[in-house]
Amino acid sequence: MASLSPLLKQATPVVVDHGEGVYLYDTNGRRNLDFTAGIGVTGTGHCHPKVVAAAQEQVGKLIHGQYTTVMHQPMLELTERLSEVLPSGLDSIFYANSGSEAVEAALRLARQATGRPNIITFQGGFHGRTVAAASMTTSGAKFRAGISPVMSGVHVAPFPYAYHYGWDAETTTDFALRELDYLFATQTPPADTAAFLVEPILGEAGYIPTSERFLAGLRERADKYGMLLIFDEIQTGYGRTGKFWGHEHFAGKPDIITIAKGLASGFPLSAIAANSEVMGKAYPGTQGGTYGGNAVACAAALATLDVIAEEGLVENAAARGKQLLDGVKKLAEQYPQIGDVRGFGLLLACEFVDAEDKPDAATAATVQQAAADNGLLTLNCCPYGNGVRMLPALVVTEEQIEEGLELFGQTLAKVLGK
Ligand code: PMP
Repeated sequence: MASLSPLLKQATPVVVDHGEGVYLYDTNGRRNLDFTAGIGVTGTGHCHPKVVAAAQEQVGKLIHGQYTTVMHQPMLELTERLSEVLPSGLDSIFYANSGSEAVEAALRLARQATGRPNIITFQGGFHGRTVAAASMTTSGAKFRAGISPVMSGVHVAPFPYAYHYGWDAETTTDFALRELDYLFATQTPPADTAAFLVEPILGEAGYIPTSERFLAGLRERADKYGMLLIFDEIQTGYGRTGKFWGHEHFAGKPDIITIAKGLASGFPLSAIAANSEVMGKAYPGTQGGTYGGNAVACAAALATLDVIAEEGLVENAAARGKQLLDGVKKLAEQYPQIGDVRGFGLLLACEFVDAEDKPDAATAATVQQAAADNGLLTLNCCPYGNGVRMLPALVVTEEQIEEGLELFGQTLAKVLGK
């Protein structure tokens, strides 16, 4: 009899029967408050009735309209609708299935459009697990463990992670920009460098923000050297941070963005968007795939856009995110083991530290497991594994945030002994 590969690790023991909104009901009949939302995917909540109806209707019409063979209506319509929410100037869209694929598509585009080989990424960034995406991922050594040699041409610059360095935000930004110029001087000359790839707020590394000055510094250098600026908005996009795109918090101006997760409420769909002039410099016919831009996924993505607008989910993410951040900060005041709490809309992370202020992964793991035992699903994060993060669906209500805070408070009291 076959069994699931042990290579797949699961953060909780939950076996789901069905999902509804922010709740996952398991096969034991237990209701779990899901503050993971499928790692930020089910922004509209589990099985939003409008998304379900749109997908069901599409399944009866056309499931797979292979997009290098034929074109289908949901993809054409989605492309039109996305122009209402995309950053200005990004008017050309390519679809794929997963975040990693979108990142690889962006890499392909940047290399082809500039004719240059190298990419600069930032320490702590997560961009996916396929080999090229893993080559650009530095949020944890496990993502590239045992698969070296990874793709060449990737140069990693420091990210302005103030808490890690122990400096204030301004000093850290100065340092990161200075090191970037040092990288150009010592490792990758601008004429060989195609693009910067950066998350506006680091995701898997524990919701660490860039800043207006840092993104402006990247923009300035990209313009000066004829490079492209790619924002990986896979985790930070689609309203999750309380603005439609994470980079809007910092007045960032991308040449290319990668989109996935919240795009289709759980159906595998991803995309890149760029200016048509940039797209026009790449080689037609070099991007594609069997499954990209699936018709049912595109129909679900259209319904997702409707739900986000009709239910004011971006605004809700901002308001509920503030409530969650305030609540967790208040809890953290009682526990010196919580060294830092960070939040942007409905992305929240806390870092656990030991008595010497060193990252404490064991405590973070215990808290995450104990929270799951208590009916609250969260995830671990941060390069040292010492973070616990929450990213509930954007439909979460005030009462449900209160419920989550109550469960998290009970968990902390149990684990940290108060
Ligand atoms: N980029 C970012 C910022 C992500 O958060 C993720 C997924 N966590 C990816 C890329 C990779 O997406 P996928 O797992 O769908 O390949």
